[in-house]
Amino acid sequence: MQVLNNRLEKVVSENLINLIRPEIKQLAAYHVADASGLIKLDAMENPYALPEELLDQLQKSFAATDLNRYPDPSAAALRQQLRKTMKVPDDQTIVLGNGSDELIQMLAMALAKPDACLMSFEPGFVMYQMIAKFTAINYVGVPLSEDFNLDMPATREAIKQHQPAVIFIAYPNNPSANLFNDAAIEEIINIAPGLVVVDEAYHPFAQASFMSKLSLYKNLLVMRTVSKMGLAGLRLGLLCGEAGMINEVDKVRLPYNINVLTQTAGLCVLNNMDVLDQQALIIRDQRAVVFEAMGAIDGLEVFPSQANFILFRILNKPANDIFESIKNAGVLIKNMKATEGVLANCLRVTIGKPEENRAFLNALALAMEK
Ligand code: PMP
Repeated sequence: MQVLNNRLEKVVSENLINLIRPEIKQLAAYHVADASGLIKLDAMENPYALPEELLDQLQKSFAATDLNRYPDPSAAALRQQLRKTMKVPDDQTIVLGNGSDELIQMLAMALAKPDACLMSFEPGFVMYQMIAKFTAINYVGVPLSEDFNLDMPATREAIKQHQPAVIFIAYPNNPSANLFNDAAIEEIINIAPGLVVVDEAYHPFAQASFMSKLSLYKNLLVMRTVSKMGLAGLRLGLLCGEAGMINEVDKVRLPYNINVLTQTAGLCVLNNMDVLDQQALIIRDQRAVVFEAMGAIDGLEVFPSQANFILFRILNKPANDIFESIKNAGVLIKNMKATEGVLANCLRVTIGKPEENRAFLNALALAMEK
């Protein structure tokens, strides 16, 4: 009887699982590595905490926040602050997301007609493709050239063939850390039949932007996040563009998506932008230090970076071994886990504090000598 019951339970639960869309069942869940006890250089976070004085201010503003009330649904004050901080042109509109991930999802949901297409470039930020799957919009990934630049003949052809409703361009790109050529991006904006989102997640380290070009192109949207500039825990991103389009995207936003603590903290910290600007400056300086030191280690191909991370290839050993060896030395970086293609045998390291970077460089040098 027990055996029969167990078998029945299994059939019932298999039937339930079969209710899930096949493309979701096939997905691997987004994996976040466990960094306990390790120096964390895997996720493009800013390594610096906020200064005491600002933490005191934050504490006071939290104490004055009404946790029993729903947040301002449109986060008007925070949007105003972000408009100022991020220099959003006056004639452009802003919608906020729970991280820029949520904005990608909102756009995809709003655009997902049965034969609509979401396009991006590969290797690129994996969430574009994953969110396309979640929202059942067709996905096309156009390969970048060997040196991680836009392959314009392939891009022109893909746009002509697939007529994408939206094209995501990460500027700088993740994981390659380079800025694509501006003229190539402008050509894409000009020939695209739909929207083009320039995703400027790493803006504090690149200091190049399409924000001031928003008014020139009806189909251009610019996306930013506060994650990489030091507020990853807040989960706050913004999408900027022409009012007509942003107001449509805003319709699929869940009410109160920006919680009251994020609104309070965002207002307080962004009002002290000089603190985060100073941290970004130190990170940019450290990026040059790490890049130079890596260049002196034999057996590496190190790719130039305009972001807060560096992609590099191990030339004569399995990248997996080097990754594990660095991890055993107490430093967690990112294993790209590619055995072929343009990312073959590549690893990615986030720029940390000087002492963290030294620990990484020592571990890398030792691993390469073995
Ligand atoms: N865009 C790019 C290019 C990214 O690399 C990331 C995060 N790794 C994001 C967007 C998502 O950022 P957020 O934390 O705002 O969701």
